[in-house]
Amino acid sequence: MRKFKTESKKLLDLMINSIYTNREIFLRELISNASDAVDKLYFRSLTDSDVQLSADELAIDVAFDKDARTITVSDSGIGMNKDELEKNLGTIAHSGSLDFKTENAEGEQASAVDIIGQFGVGFYSAFMVAKKVVVVSKRYGEDEACSWTSDGVEGYTIADAERENHGTDVILYLKDDADEDSYSEFLSEWKLRELIKKYSNYVRYPIRMEVSKT
Ligand code: ADP
Ligand code: MG
Repeated sequence: MRKFKTESKKLLDLMINSIYTNREIFLRELISNASDAVDKLYFRSLTDSDVQLSADELAIDVAFDKDARTITVSDSGIGMNKDELEKNLGTIAHSGSLDFKTENAEGEQASAVDIIGQFGVGFYSAFMVAKKVVVVSKRYGEDEACSWTSDGVEGYTIADAERENHGTDVILYLKDDADEDSYSEFLSEWKLRELIKKYSNYVRYPIRMEVSKT
């Protein structure tokens, strides 16, 4: 297992232990990353005639499986290779700001609300609802797919994986329901639709929902 950098760990602690009520924003963050990844490939296709994209590749898929308690966000965007998985998901982009924030709190942890509100923490917000996250990705133009797996606590593992085409699947294994917390609510078509409508209306690519199990 590879360990998270200190700054990432701080943020993950906040995410996992967060009483942040807006945890539903995880879906917005993952869809926005998927959209960025499709953008990157799309912009390349405009200047590089070797890159030919079908309409199918310019879409984002959201799927859920009630029995497995998973939500999957998939794109056929630029994808990541092993080094990129390590670099992009092992460290957070806004570590400088987070450092500043937590130092200023003088021993007290800055609240997750502050941090999320100010910096938009992106990918790690998945750990507000997931006990495990698996990312399977294949970089455009490369042959090998790889995976990144983490429980969001100490670190992550990277391994070889299978994926037919370029792009990325982010698979969330939802936390178990507890007294005050229902995560199962996210395992429904209407709930996911509602969140997509509420937070991802501006996304320029179609968002499709595959209902694998009902
Ligand atoms: P941000 O989107 O602000 O850069 P995130 O925490 O949301 O920060 O994501 C971190 C990085 O991980 C992204 O900048 C990107 O490089 C990479 N990444 C995340 N999701 C994907 C994806 N679906 N496809 C390709 N790269 C991704
Ligand atoms: Mg993001």
